[in-house]
Amino acid sequence: MPPERYARQLVLPEIGAEGQKKLAQAEVAIVGLGALGTVTAELLARAGVGKLILIDRDVVEESNLPRQFLYAEEDIGKSKARAAEERLRKINRSIGIEAEAIHLNTATSPFLKNADIIMDCTDNLSTRFFLNDFCKKESKRWIYAAAVKTAGYVMPLFPDGPCLRCFLKEKADVETCASAGVLNTATSIIASLQATLALKILLNHDVPPKLYFLDIWQLDLKTLTIQRQKNCPACQGTYPALEKKEEALLLRFCGEQKYQISGKKKDLALIKGRWEKIGAVHHEQKALHRENITLFADGRALIKARSAEEAFALYDQYVGN
Ligand SMILES: [Zn+2]
Repeated sequence: MPPERYARQLVLPEIGAEGQKKLAQAEVAIVGLGALGTVTAELLARAGVGKLILIDRDVVEESNLPRQFLYAEEDIGKSKARAAEERLRKINRSIGIEAEAIHLNTATSPFLKNADIIMDCTDNLSTRFFLNDFCKKESKRWIYAAAVKTAGYVMPLFPDGPCLRCFLKEKADVETCASAGVLNTATSIIASLQATLALKILLNHDVPPKLYFLDIWQLDLKTLTIQRQKNCPACQGTYPALEKKEEALLLRFCGEQKYQISGKKKDLALIKGRWEKIGAVHHEQKALHRENITLFADGRALIKARSAEEAFALYDQYVGN
């Protein structure tokens, strides 16, 4: 560990030399590399956390650039996991980074198994509840974070404390960034709060399981105490989100004309050859991109379409089975 690099943290009593060593030995998984995840990942990489696992299923779009700090215009169309990894390697070459452009589910959850703490930087409730149930079952610490409009929530969750199901319903009607909008200073301060709590937990400081609400526009900060619910399934040892046997074949991205279609493993080199006959193809490790379709090596495709039928038609046309 280069001492010069972390000089300002080594003199800080909250971190110091011992703390810096702890950070170097820590592994943090970041699920979702959007407005929250890019800021959280950058802060932890710069602070010297030894290993980061970056997980995101999506690609960079122009409308991400106001908030998603790791991406530039040249990254549009690349998978977020890959683009974030490239940028973070330029920022800190001394840490380990693993990037996975995957949809998080039971099959892909082993990527989380060694994480000392998991950061929830997702934008949807189904992945959040999957994380909740996975962490409860595996006795893992994680930090919930969500932001919309000018405010957001952060809560550290521990194996023996209350869980997300104790205060949020899986079918809750929550406003999303796509429909209600979001301010970049709100997402970055919520991510900063989330990263601070992660550092405190990794450094063994006392962190209570409180729900924090922060509105950056109104400068309003509230701290809420959450009680463990007696009838909460996850706290009772049943995990609804882990019991879904079949992954949905089709998933519509919230607030967007974008669909995810799951398929079988694909030979990208073969499909690349076919696509090149009809237009420009962008190829990266484990992903291919052309016009309105991105195909990953695991057979998952992201397709921009006006309807589910159109998305399936495009999948059949360009990917096939
Ligand atoms: Zn619970």
